[in-house]
Amino acid sequence: MLIVQKFGGSSVADAQRIFNVANRIIDTKNEDNQVVVVLSAQGDTTDDLIDKAKEINPKPAKREMDMLLATGEQQSVALMAMALNALGYNAISLNAFQVQLTTTSDYSNAKIKDIDTERIKRELARDNIVLVAGFQGVNIFNDVTTLGRGGSDTTAVAIAAALNADACEIYTDVDGVYTADPRIVKDASKLEEISYDEMLELASLGSKVLHNRSVELAKKYHIPLVVRSSFNKVSGTVVKEDSKMEKMLVSGVAADKDITRISLLNIEDTPGKAFEVFSILGRNDISVDIILQSIGRDGTKDISFTVAKSDADAACEILEKYKDKIGVGTISLDDNVAKLSIVGAGMATHAGVASLMFEALYDARINISMISTSEIKISVLINKDDVELGMRAIHQKFNLAALNSL
Ligand code: ADP
Ligand code: ASP
Ligand code: MG
Repeated sequence: MLIVQKFGGSSVADAQRIFNVANRIIDTKNEDNQVVVVLSAQGDTTDDLIDKAKEINPKPAKREMDMLLATGEQQSVALMAMALNALGYNAISLNAFQVQLTTTSDYSNAKIKDIDTERIKRELARDNIVLVAGFQGVNIFNDVTTLGRGGSDTTAVAIAAALNADACEIYTDVDGVYTADPRIVKDASKLEEISYDEMLELASLGSKVLHNRSVELAKKYHIPLVVRSSFNKVSGTVVKEDSKMEKMLVSGVAADKDITRISLLNIEDTPGKAFEVFSILGRNDISVDIILQSIGRDGTKDISFTVAKSDADAACEILEKYKDKIGVGTISLDDNVAKLSIVGAGMATHAGVASLMFEALYDARINISMISTSEIKISVLINKDDVELGMRAIHQKFNLAALNSL
């Protein structure tokens, strides 16, 4: 069998953990498999590199940032090859350039376009364990790009798809996908399995256990993912087409603190204003999430919306430029907000899910400032300081800890 395994940053944080992972890779190899391994940067390396850059220049060029950040993953694969060699196994580390993993040109958020499997296949045929640097790519200018924070998961799934691998295993520092971040909700339940659609929502709404684009790719290419711990042999969670379990009302609670609310106050209350605002943002590649428009009063109205924190400054700059032309009174920005969401394929056919969520927040005396819903999720905007409390309250209201004992 051909197996793709991905190990996250905490799994390879120091020499001892590198050897722990090396031994797991060897176990897989010894079961008569070909093994391709994708690695993240060790521990906090990526964050440390970002801090280092900001010390030098508070607004570094994105191209240079990618050049810097990609070095973290390159260290990991080289060190892992050395560990495997030390244990008597053939291994070779490859970066994105050597694999010819090509991407779009969007530095810091590039999308994978193609992977030339020739080199990987050649190395496998030579009986090598192949170690590929996650998170990085090369664009049309032969420049280094990165795939966005958490992007090594996406590298792994893309390689599994390109190689038509028999399995894609994502090893991390928790035992699988839980009903909420187990670091925040101590009695969260591990899910045996979850559908691509639910996992995609959870990942997009802030559950960092998987990069959202990795789930998108897995769904597109029908690759079942196994999420499990690199520290023990517990079975983990399978992410796949449709869960065999009856559709759960709520399968998870997610939180996203990396968002900002922008409010446009005293806009002229005439047709076409929302169109003007959001088309300007769209043209500048800024995605808008929850939107709220007030009822017009005295010829004016307010529009508030949320954007990713990393887009907030750019969004404000552009809107300031068009402020007078659109007829906006003031623009204000609030980053003391967070989005709390519940996801579940079963909620589409059950009434009362939203009210139960709101009741949980009311019981915890948490104020809701915006609401947005879709078929399989409900999101609310709340004060950032209330996120953990709100997550636990909702988790308890839907009795999600009880899944543990099913
Ligand atoms: P890696 O470095 O292995 O990629 P990440 O830190 O990116 O690991 O993702 C794993 C972390 O995701 C866990 O430590 C956990 O705190 C967090 N997490 C958030 N939501 C969930 C969830 N629903 N289930 C499991 N883990 C979650
Ligand atoms: N090292 C990168 C990050 O910290 C990519 C990853 O870990 O997946 O975001
Ligand atoms: Mg990750």
